Amino acid sequence: MHLSRHFIMSLLLALILFPFIGFASLLVFVGGFLIDVDHYVYYLLRYKKVNPLDAYRFYLSNREGFPQVLHIFHTYEILLVIFILALFSEVVAIIVLGILLHIGMDLLDLLNTFTQRRDTSIRLKIFYQYQRAYSLLGWTLRELEGRQYPTKYGL
Ligand SMILES: [Zn+2]
Repeated sequence: MHLSRHFIMSLLLALILFPFIGFASLLVFVGGFLIDVDHYVYYLLRYKKVNPLDAYRFYLSNREGFPQVLHIFHTYEILLVIFILALFSEVVAIIVLGILLHIGMDLLDLLNTFTQRRDTSIRLKIFYQYQRAYSLLGWTLRELEGRQYPTKYGL
């Protein structure tokens, strides 16, 4: 999903909520847009390059989509922790609204790309191409074992 769509939709949701919760609605923007900072962190740690524009270009040009890719704020475990914290903190609860919007958009994007194709092998290829580590535990175990992702889909 392009950053600009996350930016626009998060801003829209923040504007919609502004009359009700005031400047706290900016927290929606934090959850809906800044959650993708994990992409930059992954790029920084994996490739040891600090230029954020290089990272952005990397994600635009190279759909590196194996489960070895870890976008930590997109993993079940971290999301679960954030959702639990939201039960106790109004600030986190508002951030979660943005996160739900963001994750929903990511899933719709994947579903949309997936359903546009009729050929099952291409569907599988797309599915794996867009996939990343959705589980922090699974990713950690794979990294520890040095297990490589099967390449039978030619990716
Ligand atoms: Zn995302």
